Amino acid sequence: MSAGPRSRELYSRACQLMPAGVNSPVRAFRSVGGDPLFYASGDGSHFTDADGRRFVDYVGSWGPLILGHAHPDVVEAVTAAVRKGLSYGAPCEHEIELAELMIGAVPHLEMVRFVSSGTEAVMSAIRLARGVTGRDDVVKFTGCYHGHADHLLVAAGSGLATFGTPSSAGVPASFAEHTIVAPLDDEAALEEIFDKRGSSIAAVIIEGIPANSGLLLQRQEYVRRLRELCDDHGALLILDEVITGFRIGAGGAAERYGVVPDLATYGKVIGGGMPVGAYGGRRELMQQLAPLGAVYQAGTLSGNPVAMAAGVATLRRLLAEGGAAYARLEELGSLLQQGIRAAFEDAGFPWSVVRAGSILWMSLQEGEPPRRFEDIRHEAAETYARLHSGLLDRGVYLAPSAYEVAFVSTAHDEKVIGDTVEALAATLGEVSRG
Ligand SMILES: *Cc1c(COP(=O)(O)O)cnc(C)c1O
Repeated sequence: MSAGPRSRELYSRACQLMPAGVNSPVRAFRSVGGDPLFYASGDGSHFTDADGRRFVDYVGSWGPLILGHAHPDVVEAVTAAVRKGLSYGAPCEHEIELAELMIGAVPHLEMVRFVSSGTEAVMSAIRLARGVTGRDDVVKFTGCYHGHADHLLVAAGSGLATFGTPSSAGVPASFAEHTIVAPLDDEAALEEIFDKRGSSIAAVIIEGIPANSGLLLQRQEYVRRLRELCDDHGALLILDEVITGFRIGAGGAAERYGVVPDLATYGKVIGGGMPVGAYGGRRELMQQLAPLGAVYQAGTLSGNPVAMAAGVATLRRLLAEGGAAYARLEELGSLLQQGIRAAFEDAGFPWSVVRAGSILWMSLQEGEPPRRFEDIRHEAAETYARLHSGLLDRGVYLAPSAYEVAFVSTAHDEKVIGDTVEALAATLGEVSRG
């Protein structure tokens, strides 16, 4: 289904005013075709578009809305905070509350600093890693996204241990000179990189569970080997938990792998829908930040009281009753995964659906689910566009890109998931008829 008349009208106005009418590229629907739907409001697992139509939302603002849209606890906390002023630019108790919740839940966090986005968290953590190690090089992985800092918008260079090339116009080649890009799921590649450049690597950054190019589940032994190599060569391991932090469980991906990172970055869920990022780790590292140490990092709106209040309400709800919310998310995620699997099977498609807790991704390709970006078959994007459109027709809103994952929230339930699976089965019927 295409966007309704009101969404189309809004979109044409927006296109005059903002590039492609959006403030973040994927929202423009370029990879699935058609015009984007304009959201008018959200409630729980659903949103209503500008034409008054309701959809089940599996985007959840790209991860933050783990409790669904406009959860009463969050709305109440934010409303109370707003009445007391929107921003102070000075310390306030909400910051302490959010820091205590995070540090209390994640054993390797001894101190945190709040910023206003995941991009900022990652940028700052890398600056800190460079500052404390006195080294310049950073290793990242193909298929992992860490926000849009210049030196991370870099693609693999010609050889393994060679420096990358900018993947966006506007990034000077010299900014990519300190970024080495490795394939995921490949110990030998890591060993070669550390062999050649180990003494100049400040940090390796990896997504907790790579979830920005599909969902590329990593082997525990691989992540552990990465930890070892960092230790052997004096490099820091930065786990980017902007998606996975407080999403796949209170301890994030670190807990799942049993790997302790030196620094971890957060965003999305910890802001409960408000602009919040954070980075943290061991005390002696974090104490290298200004004004205690020599690594500068600041923010006018950092620790914003309203944003902190949203994060506090969200984490309190998630951590209540011994983390019952995570057990529920696991249940709902599993139900959706089984439903999708059965629908694929019934329709005769040999595709897999990968899941980590409440994060799901349909690989739409045969064989083992990919663990590396290089193993994703990009023809699947065309199939995805057809599924996306068929599901929209039936009131189900998936991310407008084949490489984006689906998020289940605690506001989804058995009925909503059952309806989604039915809608998928009907859509697959159309796809198989060609
Ligand atoms: C979303 C994301 C970021 C960037 O966060 P923004 O808040 O969009 O700047 C960084 N790392 C990962 C793993 C992400 O998923």
